[in-house]
Amino acid sequence: MNTEEIMALDKEYVMQTYGRYPLALAKGQGSVVWDMEGKTYIDCFAGIAVNNVGHSHPKVVEAICNQAKRMIHCSNIYYTQEQVELAKLLSEVSPHDKAFFCNSGAEANEGAVKLARKFTGNGEIIAMENSFHGRTLAMITATGQHKYKKGFEPLSPGFTHVPFGDIEAVSETITDDTAAVLVEPIQGEGGVIVPPEGYLKELKELCDENDVLLIFDEVQTGFGRTGEMFASDLFGVTPDITTVAKALGGGFPIGGVLAQEEVADAFEPGDHAATFGGNPLACAAAKASIETIIEENLPLKAKEMGEYFMYKLNEQKKLYGIVEDVRGAGLMIGMEIDIDCSDIVTTARDQGVLINCTAGNVLRFLPPLNIDKGQIDTVTCVLETILEKLS
Ligand SMILES: *Cc1c(COP(=O)(O)O)cnc(C)c1O
Repeated sequence: MNTEEIMALDKEYVMQTYGRYPLALAKGQGSVVWDMEGKTYIDCFAGIAVNNVGHSHPKVVEAICNQAKRMIHCSNIYYTQEQVELAKLLSEVSPHDKAFFCNSGAEANEGAVKLARKFTGNGEIIAMENSFHGRTLAMITATGQHKYKKGFEPLSPGFTHVPFGDIEAVSETITDDTAAVLVEPIQGEGGVIVPPEGYLKELKELCDENDVLLIFDEVQTGFGRTGEMFASDLFGVTPDITTVAKALGGGFPIGGVLAQEEVADAFEPGDHAATFGGNPLACAAAKASIETIIEENLPLKAKEMGEYFMYKLNEQKKLYGIVEDVRGAGLMIGMEIDIDCSDIVTTARDQGVLINCTAGNVLRFLPPLNIDKGQIDTVTCVLETILEKLS
């Protein structure tokens, strides 16, 4: 099939929920992807921060193939070695002791909210304006952006929003019925927004003083993306619960709720479940993916390459007035432009570079963490010619 045929079939047979680019991808290797016509692109989006180890990493591929031959799925009413091994590995690399497995980021956040409500006996969740937590009914409610909720009312009760970065606002909003504060350590979809210095630490203290749990949604920031294994390491703050998904499975769908033992033990048999959650295939993929992140020192690589990338982007900021801001951490980088940036994304794609535009005017760069310097040079070079023409 060629791209046009695929687009026609999609229009006919697939629900039109995505504003897709006119591009059909056939394969990927590392930081490069091929379209149906054989043209290559440097992938600076990595499946929305999913392919942290790069496309089809040999170690992840091998783990998936071997596991698929042994067993793909069995119910959670039985034990599997793959699931306990992954949970143990997560306890070693994260600030937490125990894990619950599901299949996506939204589902992980749902699980975290249930756990916080069960543990505290309270109902209210404080979330942030401009946040993004997924597309289930409760998570579009938790999400602090109107566009994701419109047309899907009634929304779930129990969520209040405060401005991101405003500690006073949280303090004023906490009541006797507050269960948790839910926050992305760096807002992703909202436009790569880094919180003010000290904010997350103060938030943790405030939560502790009020017996409120702090939930970090690390669905996008997790697994080396920000230059540390988790953004909680970057900010030196240990939340009570962390949710993960995106990069966890190296491209294979899997999500998780991670918590300290005291909190985790509020869940009793029957309280929560997911049919596919933590099945042997997903767990084998995730274990291989995390091992690769450790063995290849990818958090450090993200830090170093991120600094280089950000340096190059800041050079362009100096040259071109339409660049308002360059921000982020590690290889989670946003470049704010003073115009809608969808045309920039299209032109970059025509020139073999895949980037994303979020929040209307923020170019978002989320490449695989093992992207090399030469590839970053190509990306910034393409971007420079575009910015030069626009200026
Ligand atoms: C992508 C994302 C989600 C939702 O993940 P899904 O797997 O699409 O449900 C939740 N939170 C954050 C911070 C995300 O970036």
